[in-house]
Amino acid sequence: MARYTTLRIGGNADYFYQPASVQELVTLVSDLQKRGEKWYVLGGGSNLLISSEGVRGHVIRTAGLTGIKILEPGLLEAEAGARLPHLAKMAAQSGLSGLEFAVGIPGTVGGAVIMNAGAHGSSISAILKTALVLDSASGTVKEMTNEELAFQYRRCILDPLRHVVLSAKFIMPQDLPELIEARTRHNEEYRLKTQPIGFPNAGSTFKNPFPDKSAGFLIDSSGLKKTQVGNACVSELHANFVINLGNATSHDVAALLKQMQSTVKEKFDIDLTPEWKTMGEFSDDELSVWRTKK
Ligand SMILES: Cc1cc2nc3c(=O)[nH]c(=O)nc-3n(C[C@H](O)[C@H](O)[C@H](O)COP(=O)(O)OP(=O)(O)OC[C@H]3O[C@@H](n4cnc5c(N)ncnc54)[C@H](O)[C@@H]3O)c2cc1C
Repeated sequence: MARYTTLRIGGNADYFYQPASVQELVTLVSDLQKRGEKWYVLGGGSNLLISSEGVRGHVIRTAGLTGIKILEPGLLEAEAGARLPHLAKMAAQSGLSGLEFAVGIPGTVGGAVIMNAGAHGSSISAILKTALVLDSASGTVKEMTNEELAFQYRRCILDPLRHVVLSAKFIMPQDLPELIEARTRHNEEYRLKTQPIGFPNAGSTFKNPFPDKSAGFLIDSSGLKKTQVGNACVSELHANFVINLGNATSHDVAALLKQMQSTVKEKFDIDLTPEWKTMGEFSDDELSVWRTKK
């Protein structure tokens, strides 16, 4: 699975699928659910640590679902696998504003809804009108409103082990394409200066515990930049980024996250919660990193 993640880490899945349509995705998940099989949905793999021991179960990648439609002026619909940077650039060219923040977020629409992806003072929840969601527990597909999705910082009400985001509609006010493109370019350039783009990574590792105290500040102030476990390393450029120096394993990364968490706890008495999700086989000790207080 390594090649499907931005961290370039992950062993094989037992079964792997790339449905070509939303209907195919719904049928596949509903069928697996009825048979009591374990399944996982994979978007851009940009907020994910997949076990080097692989995934026992079925992994369904949404890369085939990339449809984007302007339904009416100011209303855009995108399928779950559409990539945010592509969507942001396409919207800008069409004079639709609101996605300028997303140009440097290498995820998909589905992953962005689950994570309430955001940057530069905005987030998916600011422009999302509705999302079409499969609830595998009831086998129903429902168009959920922004309010029903109950967005919070980097989360919403949906559980990726139960719900599948099929597509989403965005309200995007019209503006001059030159102005939107200028804002988009500005955000893109800022990222190039502040993020370690030369090494595989999965974006911010931990959530910011407080609006005025970022995880990056706490990790940096704990002297953790350049700390290494195996080939996993805390970035020197941005302390909340963990980079893969080459052939790092999920075990290296989990051990490094644990060290970052315990050092910040010791120094500041603050619990850091990972922003990343996990997929596949991890030991209880490794999973304890994800069991901190929210
Ligand atoms: C260089 C870099 C910069 C980043 N910058 C930002 C940033 O500024 N802001 C930010 O918020 N994030 C950022 N991220 C993190 C990441 O891109 C976002 O969280 C993104 O929304 C994840 O989307 P994805 O498709 O890659 O999800 P994945 O990593 O594939 O999956 C994440 C979770 O969502 C679930 N999921 C994915 N698709 C679906 C679906 N269709 N239905 C149900 N569940 C699904 C998965 O099962 C998993 O639990 C960055 C990452 C990188 C590598």
